[in-house]
Amino acid sequence: MLRLENVSHSFKNGNEVLKVLHNIQFEVQKGEMIALLGSSGSGKSTLLNLMAGLMKPTEGHIYIADQDIVKYGENKLAVFRRKHIGFIFQAYELIPTLTIRENVELPLVFQSVSPSKRRKKAMELLEMTGIGDKASLYPSQLSGGQQQRVSIARSLITEPSVIFADEPTGNLDTKTEEEIIRIMMALNESMKTTFVIVTHEMEVAAQMKKTIMLRDGYLVQPEDYITPAAGQRGPNGPSSLP
Ligand code: ADP
Ligand code: MG
Repeated sequence: MLRLENVSHSFKNGNEVLKVLHNIQFEVQKGEMIALLGSSGSGKSTLLNLMAGLMKPTEGHIYIADQDIVKYGENKLAVFRRKHIGFIFQAYELIPTLTIRENVELPLVFQSVSPSKRRKKAMELLEMTGIGDKASLYPSQLSGGQQQRVSIARSLITEPSVIFADEPTGNLDTKTEEEIIRIMMALNESMKTTFVIVTHEMEVAAQMKKTIMLRDGYLVQPEDYITPAAGQRGPNGPSSLP
C-alpha cells in the first residue's frame, strides 16, 4: 500500500541547506494502522507531507497503491491525491462558513458527485463518527473533539487508500483524545482504510499494533526504543522515549 525507498529531504534557506530526513525506508500494508513517533523537530510533519504528496523529497521514492508519486507532475499528483489520500490536521481545518455536512461533502464536490449522493455519504460518515445530529451546525458551534470527528469523516468520504493524520489529538484533552483514537481504530477496522498517525504521545502509540520512530531525521529501529537498554544501534546511541 505504502512504501518508502531511501527518502531524504533537505530544506534550503538562502545558502544554508538543512537535511531533516535521512534515507527513510519502511512499508505499510493495506489496512494497517501505524503510529509515527518522534519528539518535536524530528521530521514527522515533513515526512507526512512528503507521503501525502504535498512536497517532493530531495531524494528517494514513495509508492502509494503501486505508483511512485515522486515521479508525478503537479496536475497528475493533484488528481492522485484527491483519489487516494486523506489528511487529518491537528487544527481540524474546517471551513467556517459551511455547515458540518457541507464540510464533509466538499471533497466530493471536486469529483462532481451528485448532491444527493454526496449528502447521503456525508450523513453516513457523520453517523459513524457519532455526530450525525450536528450535521446542520457550523464548525464554531462544535467542541474541538467534535470538530476533529468532522475532519475524520471528511477525510474518509473519498474512500482514500491511505489517511495521514498529523497529531490529530494534539489540541484535545486526554479523554477526548482517547475517543478520537477509538473512532479512528474502529474505522480502520470496519473500512480497512490504512492510517498513518503522527503523534508524540506514547499513550496513543501504545494502542497501535505497529509503530515507527524518527529521531533527528533518522528512522530508529523498534528494538532500540522498545528496549532502551539495547545499546548503540540507533543513529544517536542508546535511546530513550521522547
Ligand atoms: P516535527 O513535525 O517532528 O516536529 P518537522 O517535520 O516539522 O518536525 O520539522 C523537522 C525539521 O525541519 C525542523 O528542524 C524544522 O525546523 C525544519 N523545517 C520544517 N519545515 C521547514 C521549512 N519549510 N523550511 C525550513 N526548515 C523546515
Ligand atoms: Mg509536526
